[in-house]
Amino acid sequence: QPVIGVLALQGDVREHAAMIERAGGRAVAVRRESELASVDGLVLPGGESTTMSRLLETFGLLGPLRERLAGGMPAFGSCAGMILLARQALDGRPDQQQLGALDVIVRRNAFGRQVDSFEADLQFETLTSGQPLHAVFIRAPWVEKAGDGVEVLARVPESPATGGAGARIVAVRQGPVLATAFHPELTGDDRVHRLFVGMVRDAATTSETEER
Ligand code: GLN
Repeated sequence: QPVIGVLALQGDVREHAAMIERAGGRAVAVRRESELASVDGLVLPGGESTTMSRLLETFGLLGPLRERLAGGMPAFGSCAGMILLARQALDGRPDQQQLGALDVIVRRNAFGRQVDSFEADLQFETLTSGQPLHAVFIRAPWVEKAGDGVEVLARVPESPATGGAGARIVAVRQGPVLATAFHPELTGDDRVHRLFVGMVRDAATTSETEER
């Protein structure tokens, strides 16, 4: 059973942990470097990305987390977690730190110009059952630009929420790193967490094979 950390500095820590357990992983809270060192993958919940990046520094986790991501640790970021994982954030504060694990440029509070929060049913690639995914957006970012190696998993179609600017990317994957602009921990549908637990399992199998 893969051990999956939930970064416990801010946000929906308990909800993510419950979804990870439901999806077949073992969830542990991560607040220290020693806890980070022992997990097979990490969930970065939503919250406020500037505050979270400051807390990462305060807790001495920023450097160790960058190292683990560079070493291929699977990660799943939702909302502020997605912002942190990105290589660049637009409309961020100047002191906001980026983890740079995803080759994307995100825009913070992107939908907020039109609406603060909204819900939408999304077509989400690679999810089992093919049913649309109900997604909750709370002062959410969108992906403004995705690099060539980034797989786009879901878009919010052209709608009042996107301000007439066309469809917007809201879920991506790049190798072992998954990110959603919305909060899949809030809807009771555990398919995104299942996808992530599967990614952690696959990464563990690959690294065991490499060690042999
Ligand atoms: N607006 C927040 C930020 O910029 C993200 C909101 C969320 O995580 N729900 O960090």
